[in-house]
Amino acid sequence: MTAPRIVWLRRDLRLADQPAFRAAAAAGPVIPVYVLDDETPRHRKMGGASRWWLHHSLAALARDLEARGSRLILRRGRSDEVLAALAAETGAAAVHALRHVEPWWRNADRALAEALPEGVAFERHDGLYLMPPGSVTSGQGGQYRIFTPFYRALLLHMPPPVPLPAPELAAPAQWPASEQLEDWALLPTRPDWAGGFREAWHCGEAAAHAQLEDFAGRVAAYDEARNLPSIDGSSRLSPYLHFGEISPAQVWHRLATEGGGGSASFLREVVWRDYAATILRQFPDYPERPYKPEFEQFAWRDPLSDLQAAEDMAAWQQGRTGYPIVDAGMRQLWVTGWMRNRVRMIAASFLIKHLLIDWRHGERWFWDTLVDADYGNNGVNWQWSAGCGADANMFGRIMAPLTQSEKFDCAAYIRQWVPELSGLDAPYIHDPDSYGMRPSDYPRKRIGHREGRERALAAWEALRSG
Ligand code: FAD
Repeated sequence: MTAPRIVWLRRDLRLADQPAFRAAAAAGPVIPVYVLDDETPRHRKMGGASRWWLHHSLAALARDLEARGSRLILRRGRSDEVLAALAAETGAAAVHALRHVEPWWRNADRALAEALPEGVAFERHDGLYLMPPGSVTSGQGGQYRIFTPFYRALLLHMPPPVPLPAPELAAPAQWPASEQLEDWALLPTRPDWAGGFREAWHCGEAAAHAQLEDFAGRVAAYDEARNLPSIDGSSRLSPYLHFGEISPAQVWHRLATEGGGGSASFLREVVWRDYAATILRQFPDYPERPYKPEFEQFAWRDPLSDLQAAEDMAAWQQGRTGYPIVDAGMRQLWVTGWMRNRVRMIAASFLIKHLLIDWRHGERWFWDTLVDADYGNNGVNWQWSAGCGADANMFGRIMAPLTQSEKFDCAAYIRQWVPELSGLDAPYIHDPDSYGMRPSDYPRKRIGHREGRERALAAWEALRSG
């Protein structure tokens, strides 16, 4: 019998338009494998919300594979060691995998290429992004660091290749043993904080396509609706795209010819994902260090050593800052693992500028609490918000949360997530403290807008004047 081929899965948990599956299936029997790896050097351990998603995503993929007469093999440990041992055990001819940009996955790829037994090929494929990261270059062959020129250059390569159907999968003569998903303890138990997640999400490839279909009916209104947190105006595809339950090419081909300007704006946002991957590929520790090095000297308030800053950080995390739009967002994040881009920008700006806390503390909190936590996307957006990134907002442009809340009509959204304020109408609900309408169970503002703004600008001036 032909030797089997291992398909090594990471954040590419789908069967259709998955070039590693396609190539492996064309060559022989397939052994799909997921390795729970917290050990590869430079690994950033997945946060709690991501682990919840991963559990359900793996369960869905295992069901889909079983329906096709295949299986999902689960193993734990350092990816290169686990896969090299599995290749030897199964007599595999090759390991197929998609290219990832996270520094630990690049390390794991290099280590695996070394560790595989003689004669076992390591075949890598593209498919996580619209274009392979690093392949969109300027006329002079340079890598882009700014979004808009990158976006224009990427568009010249669009549309992406037509998505591949799911392949037929032949089973190996003998299946290797698998660990049990339940033993991985990816789901929270004591306490079980995931009740809101279960209400908000269905995970897996079929659910991703159902979400895309639902959004196709709304994409025409995206341009305006995406900024209005009170209505369901964006796609909510981010966790599906992050875990690879759907490919960006599938999204592109489904939406490019429908929804007019709405689709064009939407696909432009999808390109931000490719942009973040390009940045991470060039600067592997982008989520850990400011791109503009002078920001290392910024006079942040440190929640690890300053009690007041620690209390401010906790109030932000718990949605008790006294700024209703910030609190609504942070509570939605805690309950569902997600929030809208507009609200992420407001909440991030508030932490960095009004509370003067280093963006990296916020990045870590989002990493732990977002179901779409993505090393590239998260790092790029936090640096953008802090004004220290490759393509960033100026630090001095300080978002006014109360004005944003009114402008984007956030009243219904606030009523949903901050029940203490559910009896208030606009304009009071946006700023109950200033209107003298604050219910006794809702906190005062941690800091006034003007005071926070002036403190942030003074710190920025101090940095600039060296
Ligand atoms: P839509 O508006 O429907 O956009 C479609 C898709 O395009 C998204 O699913 C996402 O894959 C991509 N996309 C949209 N906006 C961006 C963006 N600004 N940067 C990169 N990709 C984008 N997104 C993540 O996927 N993971 C993160 O960890 C993450 N952290 C963020 C942190 C901050 C501080 C901010 C301001 C934004 C962050 N984003 C992150 C980007 C963005 O907020 C989310 O992708 C978006 O809100 C997800 O909702 P959606 O799928 O409905 O988006």
